[in-house]
This record gives sequence, C-alpha cells and structure tokens, in this order.
Amino acid sequence: MAEVPPPIKDIVITHKQLFINNEFVDAQSGKKMDVINPTTGDVICQVAEADEADVNIAVDAAVAAFDRKGAWRTMDASDRGLLLYRLADLMEKYHCELATLESMDNGKPYHIAYVADIVLCIKCIRYYAGWADKNQGKTLPVDGKFLTYTRHEPVGVCAQIIPWNFPLLMACWKLGPALSMGNTVILKLAEQTPLSALFLASLIKEAGFPKGVVNVLTGFGPECGAPLAKHPKCDKVAFTGSTQVGKLIQGYAAGNLKRVTLECGGKSPIIVLKDVDLDKAVDVCHLGLFFNHGQCCIAGSRIYVEADIYEQFVEKAKKKAMGMKLGDPMEKTTDQGPQVDNDQFEKILELIESGKKEGATLQTGGKRFGDKGYFVEPTVFSDVKDDMRISKEEIFGPVMSIFKFESLDEVIDRANNSIYGLGAGVLTNDHTRAIQLSEAIRAGTIYVNCYNLFDIRAPFGGYKMSGIGRELGEYALENYTEVKTVYNPY
Ligand code: ADP
Repeated sequence: MAEVPPPIKDIVITHKQLFINNEFVDAQSGKKMDVINPTTGDVICQVAEADEADVNIAVDAAVAAFDRKGAWRTMDASDRGLLLYRLADLMEKYHCELATLESMDNGKPYHIAYVADIVLCIKCIRYYAGWADKNQGKTLPVDGKFLTYTRHEPVGVCAQIIPWNFPLLMACWKLGPALSMGNTVILKLAEQTPLSALFLASLIKEAGFPKGVVNVLTGFGPECGAPLAKHPKCDKVAFTGSTQVGKLIQGYAAGNLKRVTLECGGKSPIIVLKDVDLDKAVDVCHLGLFFNHGQCCIAGSRIYVEADIYEQFVEKAKKKAMGMKLGDPMEKTTDQGPQVDNDQFEKILELIESGKKEGATLQTGGKRFGDKGYFVEPTVFSDVKDDMRISKEEIFGPVMSIFKFESLDEVIDRANNSIYGLGAGVLTNDHTRAIQLSEAIRAGTIYVNCYNLFDIRAPFGGYKMSGIGRELGEYALENYTEVKTVYNPY
C-alpha cells in the first residue's frame, strides 16, 4: 500500500456557506451553526444554517438547471462523464485536504479516511463517470409495424439527504449516479459533518459543472431536510439515515409521489459455525463491529456463535477489543477516535447501561474513555439474550453483543427475527452450509467469511425496515432514470 501522507496541520476551513447556483452564499436568515470537533468538543467553525427559504432557492436553481434547453440537458452524455472524471481527478489532487477535513469533523482516524473513505469516493465518481454514456434503452419486437424503443431519461430534480458516518462517501454514492444519469441535485448534508462535502462543492464548480446542477445545503433535519423532502418541485428524494427519519421521508414524499430510495438502520447478525478457524472468525467479527467506531448501518452487531466454541470465541473477542488504541484520530497509530457527537455518545452509554441491567455479561469496556471528547471504550457483552434492548435497538457504537446458539434452524430464525434486514455474515468452512444460510437470511448483503466490503460495483441496501431500493453498481442507475417507451409506426 502506498505511504499515507500526513494530515494537513492547521487546515484553514475555506467553505462554510451554502452552495447554490455555483456560488457560496449565506443563509437567507443569516443564521449559522457550530461545527464541533468530536475529539475535543471544541467548535471548529460555523457554517450557514439553511431553512425553508434557502431550500426554495436551491430547488429553483436545480429546476432551472434541468431546463430542457439548458447547458446540462443539452450536454452530450459523454461530456457529462468527462465532468465527473474531472471531479474525481480534483478529489485526487485534494486527497489530503478531504481526508483531513473528514477526520477532524467526524472523528475517524485520518489514515482510514485517507485509504478507505476518500479512495472509495474517488472510485465511486469515476465508476459513475463511466456509466454516463452507457445506460441505454432497448428496441422492442412489438406486434405490428412500429419502431418501438425505450429511452432511459433522468428523473429530474433530486433531493438527497445524507448522514454523518461516512460524510463524503455518502455524498458520492448519491451524487455519482444522479449526475451520471443527467439529474440535478440538492444535497443536504448532516449537521454534524458538513466540511468535506462543502469542500467537494468547490471542486464541483472547479470541474466545470453548469450552475444549479449541484446545490449543497447545510442545516438541521426538521428545518432544512423536511422542506426539501416535501418540496413539490423535487421529483425524487434519496435518504440515508435512521429508520425513524426514513419513515418520515416516505411520508413527506407522498405529497407529489416523489420517487423514494431509503437506506436506513440495521441490526445485522453474524453467524459463526463451529468449524471455523477461530482466530480468523474473531478478526472478521471485530472488524464487522468496530470498524468506524461501530458507526456503520451494516455493523455486525449481533454475533451468534455455535455453543461448542462460544467460550473460546468470547475470550478472544474480548482480548482483541482490549487491544485497540483509542486517541487522537490524526495520530497514525490510532484505531478508534471519538463518536461523532454528544448525542450519540450519551445514547451509546445509556444502551450499555441497559445491557448491564438486563443481565448481559460485560466482558470489557462499558465506559467513557478519557475526560474530553466523545470516546467510548470498545465494549463486549456476552450471554446476550434476544429480548434485551442491546439485541434489538441499533446502538451505532463500539458495542459487540455475543449470543450462543445450538442448531442451524434455531439461528436462522433468531437472525431473521429483526425489523431490519441490511446485512449478515456467515462464517464457516462448510460451503453447503454457507449457501444454505446465504439463502435463508433475509438481508440485502450476505458476507461469507468476510465483512464490511463496499465495492462500488455491487449493490447495497436493505430488506424490511432497513430501506427501499439499492445504491451502488448498475442497480443504482434505476433510481435516477425514468423509462420512456416510444411507439413509432412505419
Ligand atoms: P442519525 O440518527 O444517523 O443521525 P438521522 O436520520 O437523524 O440520522 O439523520 C440523517 C439525515 O437526515 C441528516 O442529514 C439529518 O439532518 C436529516 N434529518 C433528520 N431529521 C429529518 C427530518 N425530519 N426531515 C428530513 N431530514 C431529516
């Protein structure tokens, strides 16, 4: 792996305003909100705080940019692709800036932001650049003498609302397919983590996208996200975040029957059979839960281990968790930084308390780490029962719960007994069982003997209350295209 250059010391935050019509502007109200560094709890800077008035202006900009005679709609698809390639090149040029902002704002280790988040962002934009001139329709052999064909056209003006756990990556997952297919966008960032995507907005302008094609808003959910999701001039809303807000979004979208895609919460099971190589299985589960401080919608937060190897597994998982180094995310050796904000920090500690009260065995962790910032010790619970709150509620933190099971049938039912269905892991060397379990578990992604892979070419999304639709890969294009059928007699 290439050497990771150091983060940018004392980085100056250059973009703190709303991005509308290719200009950075203040909110109409003049209001600003604090951006907090989760490592210290200190204010990094303030950014504009948008509300409905700004949403209306941004939507009008996106509507105007979607004009059928405008620069964007009349542009060749291949040139749209070129703009996206140019954007990816700029992201590469500013790789260190983006990784530094991401780490400072979100609390994830800089080296992870550099080698994982930003690399995946660049790949995502390049991947969808390539699709711009390839999502073609078909000619259809209909009865009679008609030249009949389909056209894949953009949906129109797209509202996109994203969370804080992978701030820039979520922006790219949304922007990539939408822009590739010729839509215009109003992107609403998470209030906790606006800095990297505001910087991205400046690169969008530098790449040469016509004005109004991408508009970026910072603001709170009810004041900015809700009017955007409700807006009658938006044709589509795409959301990633909690299931609770996802339900609201679906309601808001009903007003004008917007197209809706949702990527919501999860409580993903990992099933560990007794035939595994135990050390490898512990490593996979550790990464599956502790990656990004447990702040992954697909985190493997219910680990079901076959009875014969249960005690050994718990011992090794505990040891591994205890070996993690917490600290300043800008330090090379840090494995785990702070949780994103005080709300999440308190929610996680409260759920840990509930686990203790309800009778799970706390193997390690369970407390705050240090005395400033929002650090939570890597925590492992064993003897977890299915009806405990830590088994059912999405914790979104570094809290591993380990369950015991006796039979395959039993564990399939227990794994599926969740309102969620985002992901699942199956760890076994028995291929037949791996196939049986992969079929039986109701989830959008099954990881066999691995976890937490997010390849841009492979679709991602959930069954049940984990969401609606799929992002990534060719599947994501459907979210951003309308299919038009043309009959033409001859
Ligand atoms: P989390 O629980 O992960 O913080 P949320 O679902 O609260 O996730 O937030 C995800 C995104 O949804 C953020 O950009 C947030 O501002 C936005 N949001 C929150 N509440 C609403 C709402 N009522 N309407 C629209 N967007 C919202």
